[in-house]
Amino acid sequence: MLNKLADAISKSRFVVFDNDGVTYRITPEMMQACSHAAALATQKFVPGLSYENAKALCQGYYRKYHSSTYGLVIDYGVDHAEVHDIYHKLVDERHVPKDDVLPELFESFILPRALLTNGSRDWTNRVLNRLRLRAYFPDHSIYPFEDVDYQRKAASEKPFRHVLDREGFCASDSIMVEDTPGNLIHAKKIGMKTVLVSDETIGPFSQFDHIDFTVPNIRTFLRLMGNRSSIEHQAIPVQPSNSIK
Ligand SMILES: [Mg+2]
Repeated sequence: MLNKLADAISKSRFVVFDNDGVTYRITPEMMQACSHAAALATQKFVPGLSYENAKALCQGYYRKYHSSTYGLVIDYGVDHAEVHDIYHKLVDERHVPKDDVLPELFESFILPRALLTNGSRDWTNRVLNRLRLRAYFPDHSIYPFEDVDYQRKAASEKPFRHVLDREGFCASDSIMVEDTPGNLIHAKKIGMKTVLVSDETIGPFSQFDHIDFTVPNIRTFLRLMGNRSSIEHQAIPVQPSNSIK
């Protein structure tokens, strides 16, 4: 499997990463921080709702929409942009587990890359700063939920097309790296190679035709990518010094 992934990587020109659950693992502590923030945000929009009931409401929304707060838009007519912004501002990024090896691995990652996330730009920047990865994702390469018109990756190919069009790559030259299996369906449909980051065994691959590869964590993926980089660096012809003007 890893050999085939290495082969796919060697043929790719562009990589799109999801953020949450990919650049860091979503630990139980992190999930708690998210559900706390969702409950607080919900209380702002549904006056009189207790903290416990707000939490339960969000859990139901998460099961239904894979988002703790999207149901507020449906059930209460809340402005999507507003709830998206407030919820993310309430999540404390200090719960994001650090990984000191990642900056090193990104350092040797030579391909153009982008980040396509259902998170907000502010939240994504805070996470990247905490992980010391901000330098590897310039502003233009970050596509938060608000920049793709709140189009969910699970629901439409539009967010993927938007990133590919803006960055100037075609789907068949690109890899999408995600931790949510359902978010890879449309990426695969338009021709991207799909990589699922998952440290769990998620059953036979026949159930997931849209997933080309799985890796236990982003380190594995980046190490394979790093191998490609070192091969390409060796292959770059050195210009004789007298040819430099
Ligand atoms: Mg994710």
